[in-house]
Amino acid sequence: MPPNAFAGAQLSINLDAITPNWRALGARLKSGARAGAVVKADAYGLGMAAVARALHAAGCRDFFVASLDEGVDLRKLLSDCRISVFFGPQPGEAEEFSRHRLKPILNDLGQIELWRTHASRGAPGKAVLQIDTGMSRLGLPPEEVARLEAEPERLSGLDIAFVMSHLACAEQPEHPMNEAQLAEFKAALESLGQIVGPAKTSFANSSGIFLGPEFHFDLARPGAALYGINPTPDKANPMSEVVRLQGKILQVRRVDSPRSVGYGAAHMVARPSWIATVPVGYADGYLRSASKQASGYIRGVQVPVVGRVSMDMITLDVTEIPPEHAQPGALVDLIGGPHSIDAFAAEAGTIGYEILTSLGRRHRRSYIENGREREGAA
Ligand SMILES: *Cc1c(COP(=O)(O)O)cnc(C)c1O
Repeated sequence: MPPNAFAGAQLSINLDAITPNWRALGARLKSGARAGAVVKADAYGLGMAAVARALHAAGCRDFFVASLDEGVDLRKLLSDCRISVFFGPQPGEAEEFSRHRLKPILNDLGQIELWRTHASRGAPGKAVLQIDTGMSRLGLPPEEVARLEAEPERLSGLDIAFVMSHLACAEQPEHPMNEAQLAEFKAALESLGQIVGPAKTSFANSSGIFLGPEFHFDLARPGAALYGINPTPDKANPMSEVVRLQGKILQVRRVDSPRSVGYGAAHMVARPSWIATVPVGYADGYLRSASKQASGYIRGVQVPVVGRVSMDMITLDVTEIPPEHAQPGALVDLIGGPHSIDAFAAEAGTIGYEILTSLGRRHRRSYIENGREREGAA
């Protein structure tokens, strides 16, 4: 019996769309540049094991994760690929990075010092250097870049594989931050050029790839676009859809007006209505903030969510649907299919990234790979 065999919702994850998305992003890059893949947060909630294996089989060899734990998990799955860890090493972690051949991303002078001490004891000093050009989150701020330039011995014994930075506003092509960050990154590369030697460069996330060749550098780091999120929100989505969540109607009932639906009596039926209950709620990643905004689709026809999203259930007004199509067991498209993940995210007042990473554990999960659908965990 597959996990969640009796679940009231089916989540299907199309690996046969993720690998073409990866290839399509790579094909957009200027010649000489290549695409890696960001698989942090369990590959944005879709299952790092399944996603990383599929991308590796498609030829991807550069993977990015956020934490050391994620890097260790990924190394157990894939022995011949490069894995870079965004958070870099904390005191006491350097050994673990080496043991699993993980490249730390060094984000400040302290992490550089920590890694240099580690390398001075005979460990390989391969690492990545991150420059902060506007996120003010991780990466060397301008004054630390200047310190490094003035004191190049801080990097002695280290082998910098590439220098990277991260865009703050890449999904808004007209935003002045893009050009400003590009200029700052180039300036930092120039001032560090003598010190880091022939290091490669990495700048673009998914949306950054669409800002043009100037933003490509040597290695792109797409995440969201691999998983079907639109990297160009003001244009049609160039990526293939990956995720589809369908709920099964549990019950349909007639509700006569005036009468309320759901918690807080937040919805009052204005006319005699047919209300369908679907067993997907905020515990399953169907965000409560979507209450009153979102819709499902039955056979492509929109059915509004009415009342508040509960922990385990939503209620939909199916009055306009022929009764034979709105029976217990009938499928309602909630995310994907007729209702793109970006559209649902907008209804919930958030972004597709948060929808993906919130997808719950109670759905019946299946993966489509090489034209076959299989049930189960990643
Ligand atoms: C998450 C992340 C990415 C991937 O960004 P997407 O917008 O999902 O393509 C790239 N680089 C860094 C540093 C990140 O944290």
